[in-house]
Amino acid sequence: MSKTLFEKIAAREIPANIVYEDDVVLAFRDINPQAPTHVLIVPKKLIANLAAAKPEDATTLAHLLLKAAEVAQKLGLVTSGYRLVFNVGPDAGESVPHLHGHILGGRQLGWPPG
Ligand code: AMP
Repeated sequence: MSKTLFEKIAAREIPANIVYEDDVVLAFRDINPQAPTHVLIVPKKLIANLAAAKPEDATTLAHLLLKAAEVAQKLGLVTSGYRLVFNVGPDAGESVPHLHGHILGGRQLGWPPG
């Protein structure tokens, strides 16, 4: 099976501005930022999206959430606030079939989202 875009970034086959990495997750700046700070955090293990996650992925998902909070803190977003978004399926605009959380901050974010 061919690699997903985010597996290629993790393998350094495609360049990215990486802000955090460990054995389980990778966080890098979105190529088309929707806010002054827009970082994607992805599990290195391929999980297609949140709907495809299985009970055995629980530890990976918990780690990803905790690291998303750490990355947001490192990027200076805790006081002003930030949003963590997981797009699932066509209505949400999911475009890369590899689970990823968007960490968005640095401006007032509208609610409800468009
Ligand atoms: P989604 O629409 O939720 O599937 O999010 C996919 C995100 O990946 C979009 O925000 C894109 O801008 C972003 N993206 C696509 N290609 C790259 C890339 N090469 N490096 C960083 N981010 C990317």
